Amino acid sequence: VKAFVFEGPRKLSLAYLPEPEPGPHEVVVRTKACGVCGTDHHILEGTFIASYPVVGGHEFAGEVAALGRGVAGLQLGQRVAVDPVLPCRMCCFCRVGKFNQCVSLGALGVTLPGGFAECVKAPETNVYPIGELPCEEAAFVEPLACVLWGVRRAGVEPGASVLIFGAGPIGLLLLQSIRRCGAGHLTVVDLNRERLVLAETLGASRTLCCPSDEELRSARPQGFELVVDATGVPAVVERGLKFTSPGGKFLVFGVCPPDGRISLSPFDVYRRDITIVGAFSLNQTFEPALRLIQSGAVSVRPLLSHRFPLEKLPDALGLVGRSGASMKVQIQFP
Ligand SMILES: [Zn+2]
Ligand SMILES: [Zn+2]
Repeated sequence: VKAFVFEGPRKLSLAYLPEPEPGPHEVVVRTKACGVCGTDHHILEGTFIASYPVVGGHEFAGEVAALGRGVAGLQLGQRVAVDPVLPCRMCCFCRVGKFNQCVSLGALGVTLPGGFAECVKAPETNVYPIGELPCEEAAFVEPLACVLWGVRRAGVEPGASVLIFGAGPIGLLLLQSIRRCGAGHLTVVDLNRERLVLAETLGASRTLCCPSDEELRSARPQGFELVVDATGVPAVVERGLKFTSPGGKFLVFGVCPPDGRISLSPFDVYRRDITIVGAFSLNQTFEPALRLIQSGAVSVRPLLSHRFPLEKLPDALGLVGRSGASMKVQIQFP
């Protein structure tokens, strides 16, 4: 099978690998669509914990191509989405349901072969039938599942006023999910006017392009009950904390550089009862994410901006690496 292998930092090569053989309780999926995400770009750049060499791609959907011994409830040819997260299920964190914090956490496309290949092997427990949902929409279930983990961690109160920094694909999935959780008023900030127009069609109450601190302050003088960073820029996190209302929460969702730092006033956090929440990967949110896309409660098709064949993965990664150059980029298979 044709696959793109991340050989090491900045080393990417097209290879022909042996057809994966499903072991007991394993499934081989013929990939139809695989999202390219910032994490893939980070793996290529060597700034994310990956085990090289590895076939990247962790946001994928396709058709069941082979079933291992003991697999029940799946059929050959059935359309499926794959949860890439592989917790050990034995460690102290897995034992209490914190699967995303597993001490030996693996993931398809990060530590084991993923979706930038014609076929992928996955444990049957990670494979979700998607019914009639097109694979290019099902490839959004993984990023939406991560978003839902963030939303669950932040706990959106009905009627809450929310401020989101960043209207990329993740910002717009956050927008739709938070709105569905009953937020009262949603403000979205970005540098790109086109993205903000899309944010408005997807339910933003107000959008602001490159607002000054004064503009943000006058938009809501008492601050926002929930502020979300979907940019991964430390300076934006630092700035955003100032607009969190007393008793409010700040969700750190965008992936900042590991050595990024911000300055923070502990007195301010204390005095204004501020809660700062992190959200890594996904945890038991794959099924609800699938349902939100299937029901149309979250629309993903408007977020898909580029489709490339597997051979063009280097171009796709280049596009994802340039901020603001694209919305969601996918590798699609014939
Ligand atoms: Zn991703
Ligand atoms: Zn574990």
